[in-house]
Amino acid sequence: MTTERAQAVYHATKHLQFCDIAAIDIKDRLGLGTVAAGLRPLGVLEGDGVELERIRDVLVDHGFHTLVSRSVWSCREGRLDDSCPSLRLLREVQAVPTKRERVLWFCNNLADRKSLKGRALTKKDAGMLLGYPACCVNFQVESDAKCDVAFLNAVIAKVGHDEQSILRALKEDVGVDMPDDVFDFDNVARTDTQFPFVMHVACSPCLDGLTPLSADLNASHEGLAQTLDPALHELILEVRKLCANLRMTDDGKVNSRVKNQIDQLHRTAYPLIRRK
Ligand SMILES: [Zn+2]
Repeated sequence: MTTERAQAVYHATKHLQFCDIAAIDIKDRLGLGTVAAGLRPLGVLEGDGVELERIRDVLVDHGFHTLVSRSVWSCREGRLDDSCPSLRLLREVQAVPTKRERVLWFCNNLADRKSLKGRALTKKDAGMLLGYPACCVNFQVESDAKCDVAFLNAVIAKVGHDEQSILRALKEDVGVDMPDDVFDFDNVARTDTQFPFVMHVACSPCLDGLTPLSADLNASHEGLAQTLDPALHELILEVRKLCANLRMTDDGKVNSRVKNQIDQLHRTAYPLIRRK
C-alpha cells in the first residue's frame, strides 16, 4: 500500500470542494485516498462538478488517468423481471440515467481508463468496477428491481391493466401508495452505523454478519483514514452517525438541526474550501 501517495493527494486537494453535500464530500476524499493507496484500481467523483476541473488537474499531477463522463452508469440492467411484463413501459418513460451532469473517473492504470472510455455501464458493472462487494452490488440491483415492480403494481392497481393508461400515468407521474418494505432505507442507515468507512450500501447478509466483505472493507478503509488524517477519521465517524440519525427520523425540525450540525463539523474540518 502506498500511503505516501494517498497522503500527498489528500493534502493537495484539501482546499478544494468535492461536493457541496458534506457527507459526500468526505466520502469522496476517502474514496480518492483508497485508489491512491492501491486499495482499489479506480474510483469516481460524483460531487456535482463543484471543482471538478481543478481536482482533475491535481489528480493528473499525481499520476492518475482521468476521464470525465456524464454519469456513473448509463444503461439499465438488461434482464427484465418476467413476473411483471409492464416493466417495459416503465423503461420507456424512465430517464436514463440520473440528474448528474458530469462525473470524474480516476484510474491508477491507463488500461482501466481506456476500457472505461465509451463503455456504457450498468449500475452493476459500475459497482463491481468500483470494488464494492459482489453481494452488496447484487442486493442493490435486486432491490432496485423489486422497487420498480412494486411501483408498477401500484400504478396498475390505480389505473388498470390497459397499456396506454399505464403509460399516461407514468408520464404524468401520478402519485401512488408504495408499501414501505420495498425500500432499503434501513440498509442505508445501518451501513452508516456499522460500516461508516465504506462507499457502498451494504447488503443485509453483510450487515447481519453472515458475510465478512463489507466489514473487511470497512476495516481497511478505516485504517487508511486514520493514516491520512486523524481529523478526517473522526469527522467520518461523527458525520455518518449523524446521517444514520437523519435517516431514522422524519421530523423536519430535527432534520434541519442535524444537517446544520453536519455542515458545521465539515466547515471546521475544511476551513479553506470555497463554498457556494
Ligand atoms: Zn454484502
